[in-house]
Amino acid sequence: MPSFVNPEKCDGCKALDKTACQYICPNDLMVLDKDAMKAWNREPEMCWECYSCVKICPVQAIEVRGYADFVPMGANVTPMRSTDSIMWTVKFRNGMLKRFKFPIRTTAEGQAQPAGGYKPHEDLNSQVLAQEPEALNMSEVYTIK
Ligand code: SF4
Ligand code: SF4
Repeated sequence: MPSFVNPEKCDGCKALDKTACQYICPNDLMVLDKDAMKAWNREPEMCWECYSCVKICPVQAIEVRGYADFVPMGANVTPMRSTDSIMWTVKFRNGMLKRFKFPIRTTAEGQAQPAGGYKPHEDLNSQVLAQEPEALNMSEVYTIK
């Protein structure tokens, strides 16, 4: 099910030129009603449920039905992001709420570890993949010479 905006929570990103959901949507689906200062998904059938707008909305105004493999029976899910984790609130149709919190970083906010701390590939023309052969516990990956 596509994402949908809860108009009671949406504040139109406080009149910024482009709202966060407009900025992030890869399908350019979100539009802002500048009179009401409310955003809406203009073509729900084109929404591929990537969750980008759901995650970026600063006031948790965008909801989406979770995929059945992690949220059964059509519950809707709302994320709350912090600097190092994300907490999903799952609301089932009978009103039951469940919350799950997951870490989202392995480094401090604003920092990155190139190549995840692994040794970068020394030869871009090599046939073996990064971290091979060590990651395969092999001494050598056999390739076509
Ligand atoms: Fe409204 Fe959230 Fe979109 Fe901002 S990001 S316009 S608050 S739905
Ligand atoms: Fe766009 Fe993805 Fe949000 Fe759908 S879920 S409206 S495709 S950002």
